[in-house]
Parts: sequence; C-alpha cells; structure tokens
Amino acid sequence: AQAETQAEKAEVQAYFESTGFERWNRIYSDSEEVNRVQRNIRIGHQKTVDAVLAWLQQQGDLSSRSFCDAGCGVGSLSLPLAALGAGSIAASDLSAAMVAEASRRATEAGLASGRLSFTASDLESLQGRYDTVICLDVFIHYPQAAAEAMVKHLAAMAERQLIVSFAPYTPLLAVLKQIGQLFPGPSKTTRAYTLREDGIVAAAASAGFRPVHRSLNQAPFYFSRLIAFERDPA
Ligand code: SAM
Repeated sequence: AQAETQAEKAEVQAYFESTGFERWNRIYSDSEEVNRVQRNIRIGHQKTVDAVLAWLQQQGDLSSRSFCDAGCGVGSLSLPLAALGAGSIAASDLSAAMVAEASRRATEAGLASGRLSFTASDLESLQGRYDTVICLDVFIHYPQAAAEAMVKHLAAMAERQLIVSFAPYTPLLAVLKQIGQLFPGPSKTTRAYTLREDGIVAAAASAGFRPVHRSLNQAPFYFSRLIAFERDPA
C-alpha cells in the first residue's frame, strides 16, 4: 500500500506541475476560459475561502498570529489572509508551479513581504509550529486512513487552531464522477477520495482538538465540508 501511495503521489505531483496546474490556475482566477463545471467549482471554492476568512476575522486581530497554509495552490487563501494583516503566513504546495504562481500573484497584488513565504513542499514534510494550520481541499487526494494520519500530523504543528476542508463521503456517485473528471489517469473516479467526517473528527480528537465551527460549502459539482478545530485546554 505504501508503494501504491507513493506512486499515486508522484502522479498527483506530475499532474499539478502540468495539465492540472493550468486547469486549476484557470479555475482559481477570473479567466472566462472555464466550462460550466469549472465555473461552479470556482464559485464553491470561493465560498470555502470566504468562510475561513470570515471565521478568522471574527476572532479579532490577526497580526500577532502565525499561519501555515498547507497545500496552498495559487494562494487563494494566503493572499487575502495577508491582505487582512496576518502576522505571518507560511504557504506551501507539492507543486512548484503552484507555488511560483502564488508568489507571482502576491507580487502582482502588492502583497509580497517577509511575512508571506512560499515553499514547494508536500504535506508530509512540513514541520514547525504555527498558531493556526489550514489545509483546504487537499484531502481529495488522500484515502481515509492517510487523511486521518495527516490530520494528526497537521494538528501536531498547530498551537491553537486547525482548519481543514474535504469532500465529505456521500453516496452520490454522480457528483464523485464529476469531481473525478478533473483528475488524471484512466481510472479518474477512483482518485478523488471522499472522506468520512467522523473519522476526521476522531483523528483530530486524538491529537487534542475539538471542532468549534463547521460549514458545508457547495455549488453544483463542488461539495466541501469545512471544520475548524481548537486545541482543548490541557
Ligand atoms: N488549498 C488550495 C486552495 O484551496 O485554494 C488549493 C486546493 S487544490 C484543489 C489542491 C492542491 O493540493 C494543489 O495545489 C496540489 O498541488 C496540492 N497537493 C496535492 N497533494 C499534495 C500533497 N501531498 N502535499 C502538498 N500539496 C498537495
């Protein structure tokens, strides 16, 4: 299973360095060159990003807080978070192409500064401690057990909060098939994993975190459960 996971990750990486990068860079932009499915994914994803930003803003001043944006893509969360005055943001992604684009967008938006860093790294290699660790819409590439292990890994890096979003398990295979169309390979549909929420919550609980905020963000062809966890006071 380990070898299979490695092979699958190499495929995901190759995809997000090439076709996947182009496709998702377009989805996560204002470009008109998107089809109906992609436009809806853009709308749904923006709801997830907006929900995170609203939740964080409710908590008051962000300038003293450090953030880790794990699997940052083109910076759809990190850039507005920087604009809101976050103390520091360490953004990273498995794909060097994504990281380069995120960095380019930060410069273009006048947000490049020492407080915002971009690094090419997979989730597994991330280290360090942050006030808040955020990982949005990356677990689609992780089967249940691997996603739960990753929740524990990210939780260990979070001093106060962990915020994750993922496609929740649903018997609606039609939806899954549509998601699958965005991914590479002959058996596209098997590579988009939906996750059981109770397992994710249990993994966070075993790392000392409890859910404090939940929302379901959706649009046609997009379905994402967002959960914010807080470290239980010891
Ligand atoms: N979190 C970003 C957002 O919400 O805008 C990007 C979401 S995009 C659907 C998924 C991202 O996960 C891609 O940029 C991809 O390169 C990245 N990714 C996939 N597997 C990863 C891994 N093992 N480690 C780090 N990043 C990964």
